[in-house]
Amino acid sequence: MLEEVGLTIVESRSVLHRLEVAMVSHEEWLAEFHRALLCGGTLGDEYMAVDAHERCRFGLELKSLLAKKGELGELILIQDILFLHHRMHEIVRQFADYHHSETQDKQMLSRLYDEVIAKRMAFRWLVLAFDHNVCYQILHTDPLTNTLGREKLLATLQREIHEIARHPGRESLIVMVDVDYFKRINDTYGHVIGDRVLIEVSRFIKTNLRPTDLVFRYGGEEFVLFLSNTPLSWAGVLLERLRQRLSEYEIVTSPLAHPLTVTASFGVAQICGTESIQENVDRADKAMYHAKRSGRNRVVMG
Ligand code: GH3
Ligand code: MG
Ligand code: MG
Repeated sequence: MLEEVGLTIVESRSVLHRLEVAMVSHEEWLAEFHRALLCGGTLGDEYMAVDAHERCRFGLELKSLLAKKGELGELILIQDILFLHHRMHEIVRQFADYHHSETQDKQMLSRLYDEVIAKRMAFRWLVLAFDHNVCYQILHTDPLTNTLGREKLLATLQREIHEIARHPGRESLIVMVDVDYFKRINDTYGHVIGDRVLIEVSRFIKTNLRPTDLVFRYGGEEFVLFLSNTPLSWAGVLLERLRQRLSEYEIVTSPLAHPLTVTASFGVAQICGTESIQENVDRADKAMYHAKRSGRNRVVMG
């Protein structure tokens, strides 16, 4: 989900951590509220102010997160959290107003209290849903390249094999991509530059595919592309263009160093509804090795 708004795994982890800390301090704020009700005492500005939702630790944390990462504000879940957080503060203020007033109608008071609790629950559920989504993304994303991980690849292929078996006209492709002579990059420039190259190659591939295509890191310098609803007859043009552009792409690894260029070998297989995941991957793999043996920097159809 956070990938949609351009956050890396490291940034997502930090957002998650900050929201969790903010949530805990919000519980402290609520504990103080209950303490005042049960043990007597007045509710101060942090409850009564019209902008209390912006002054509480949760509000402050979210505000500072949004100031740094404005894109977060585009997420519906974040908009819902902001809205419910604001509503919860409004209800608490109404309740506190009523609680402090001379004319206390017990029925009204309990109705308002129920609303405070309902809003607080809904708000908490939303933050939990957000946490869950971010954890899911972290779990399924390769931390170096920000591409999807192996588990997600298996799930995607399993689903597609089923779909193709059920809808015989459907055509989707799996492409094995292996960077050529990558070991030389590590040996010549070191692993840090090697990592940088992997990050740039995967980013380049992602930006040169359609938004519906998926990129997985299969291992090391190997990536798997999943192109759904793509006939094999299109693959030649599509992947040839990608191969060509990649070979010309200048990778800047540091401001002073000369840019590097790399090539990759591509093996393409049409997903078959009567084969297992392994058999499908194997055909793409064999086509990729064929590309290697034929001289590298080429696309081979399986
Ligand atoms: P070929 O054209 O046959 O694919 O040659 P190659 O050098 O790309 O392939 P080889 O399998 O010999 O080497 C792959 C190298 O990738 C070896 C390994 O150290 C390196 N590698 C794997 N994972 C990472 C990584 O995460 N970061 C870096 N920097 N290197 C990695
Ligand atoms: Mg390899
Ligand atoms: Mg390689």
